[in-house]
Amino acid sequence: MNLSYWEYKTWLSNIDFTIVGSGIVGLNCALHLKKQYPKAKILVLERGQFPQGASTKNAGFACFGSVSEVLSDLKNHPEEEVRQLVLKRWEGIQLLRENLGDKPMEYQNHCGGHEVFLKEQADLYEDCLDNLDRVNTLLRPVFGTDAFLVHPNTFNFNGVQKNYVTNPFEGQINTGKMMKSLLAKVQNSGVTILNAIGVDSYQENIDHVVVKTEQFEFKTNKLFVATNGFASQLIGETVKPARAQVLITKPIENLSIKGTFHLDEGYYYFRNIDNRILLGGGRNLDFKGEETTSFGETSLIQNRLENILQTVILPNTPFEIDLRWSGIMGIGNHKKPIVKQLANNVFCGVRMGGMGIAIGSLVGRELANLLN
Ligand SMILES: Cc1cc2nc3c(=O)[nH]c(=O)nc-3n(C[C@H](O)[C@H](O)[C@H](O)COP(=O)(O)OP(=O)(O)OC[C@H]3O[C@@H](n4cnc5c(N)ncnc54)[C@H](O)[C@@H]3O)c2cc1C
Repeated sequence: MNLSYWEYKTWLSNIDFTIVGSGIVGLNCALHLKKQYPKAKILVLERGQFPQGASTKNAGFACFGSVSEVLSDLKNHPEEEVRQLVLKRWEGIQLLRENLGDKPMEYQNHCGGHEVFLKEQADLYEDCLDNLDRVNTLLRPVFGTDAFLVHPNTFNFNGVQKNYVTNPFEGQINTGKMMKSLLAKVQNSGVTILNAIGVDSYQENIDHVVVKTEQFEFKTNKLFVATNGFASQLIGETVKPARAQVLITKPIENLSIKGTFHLDEGYYYFRNIDNRILLGGGRNLDFKGEETTSFGETSLIQNRLENILQTVILPNTPFEIDLRWSGIMGIGNHKKPIVKQLANNVFCGVRMGGMGIAIGSLVGRELANLLN
């Protein structure tokens, strides 16, 4: 497609910074660059009509790790590293709240987060209870008090151990509202966002980068790549795509379940929203098949999600499924995101794992700060 003089001149000339990807990381990077360089011309390019990766698809848990996850991390990482991981997530959530405010994204943490253990997971359950003090002591410098408490099964889940492990600091947000207000904040700051523009490749020169999109080419002084699960398509970093499938019920009258819930070592997660249950997970049923950048739902995983709703979460309540969808995460062997300079004028902030709500704001800021 040939662009007009006006299109080039107005949108694509004298670009200081270009960011690829308008997820939570790309938008936070843009916001922070604008704060530091108010006169800079900043462009965000997004392949989807919406941000089309994970940031508008997720479950909206403002979480920092369940007790079983912390214990599993402690098996492979030094204590200090595990504490720093949790601290980073906790600080990231505070930064997100500071940036957007609680109300616009419906942030709330009065229901807490709960890890629920299936009947057949007696060993894991006992192990978590036995190690609760150890984990609480480890994380006391982060939260100032015990982060994990034993709580009875008050929501009448079926086929589960009699107690949950509850984290009163865990919160939930309305993902759609969070992204809408983040997009508005970025646009109001004077950053241009162009949707439906996929970046195919780039070419680094001494003092600029040529960006080649599916439709046109242009020059930018610096390029920031925030494409998470799609990163290996554009840069050589080892980020594996990981599709995550979700469903949501229609509204359920007198739904008493409130909070965020982790089940089966975090392979499943569910929460209340608008009198509905949102439930996701099941990647462990087909890791290989879900290692894809293609959106889509499979009957294997969707059937299991429905089965969990029927047998564990809502055993005595009729429900109907309203919507099913998927999103693409970026994962790797290590839980730390990759935030680094790739070339003189090219930087990346990718591999958020399942924690982008918690760490996305911080990583976006770190990515922008690579310029200093
Ligand atoms: C179903 C699901 C549930 C989740 N639940 C939670 C949760 O409860 N709590 C939590 O903390 N995290 C959760 N996550 C993870 C979280 O959503 C992600 O970690 C986070 O959104 C990643 O943000 P990002 O900006 O790095 O990537 P993304 O949001 O994926 O943004 C990357 C963007 O880059 C764009 N892009 C890619 N390639 C190109 C290209 N070549 N040209 C132009 N644009 C391109 C994509 O379209 C996309 O919009 C969940 C994820 C999923 C999928």
